[in-house]
Amino acid sequence: METKKGKLFVISGSSGVGKGTLLKQLVQKNPDLEISISATTRNPRPGEIDGVNYFFITETEFLKEVKNGEFLEWAEFNGNYYGTKQAWVERNLNKGKNLILEIETNGALQIKKKIPDSVLIFILPPSLEELEHRLRGRNTEDEETIQGRLHEVRREIECSKNYDYTVVNDDLDKALKELEKIIKSIIH
Ligand code: 5GP
Repeated sequence: METKKGKLFVISGSSGVGKGTLLKQLVQKNPDLEISISATTRNPRPGEIDGVNYFFITETEFLKEVKNGEFLEWAEFNGNYYGTKQAWVERNLNKGKNLILEIETNGALQIKKKIPDSVLIFILPPSLEELEHRLRGRNTEDEETIQGRLHEVRREIECSKNYDYTVVNDDLDKALKELEKIIKSIIH
């Protein structure tokens, strides 16, 4: 019997919106979901591990892989490149795995074009003010980076209108339940 192909869920959200925690809990509770590990040219943040959080590669390596057509999608974000490996996605979808891609909006729209039955979910912050507060509380970025991110967020909120679903993360448990409900309604 042929294996049923897996579903591709693409999740985007403004930085500082709690996406990381949300997705970590989602995958812990649902072992049938697999998170893709992207390649990036940005430097690892403290505690990040190569091959776990990202594959950290040089710009030269990244651009070579772009040229070789190795990415299903890729984008530049805040001065760094990020991309999803096509081979990994195809292999796992064909095995029947349901995949989660946590990527920014340009990449998400590229995926929707290439794989129309992929499901795009956008995680929204309760408000821009609340988001700014969270970013500053994180204390890992300088003012210029924070301003850059807030600008990006305004653009992303606009872009979320192209997504299949939006989930507001004002409460982690509530957002997690909502996200699970959406995913389960599609894969079960
Ligand atoms: P960060 O540097 O904070 O880990 O990620 C910055 C942005 O890049 C986030 O919006 C994240 O979702 C996005 N991102 C991470 N991996 C990929 C990827 O493979 N492709 C695209 N297009 N965006 C990605």
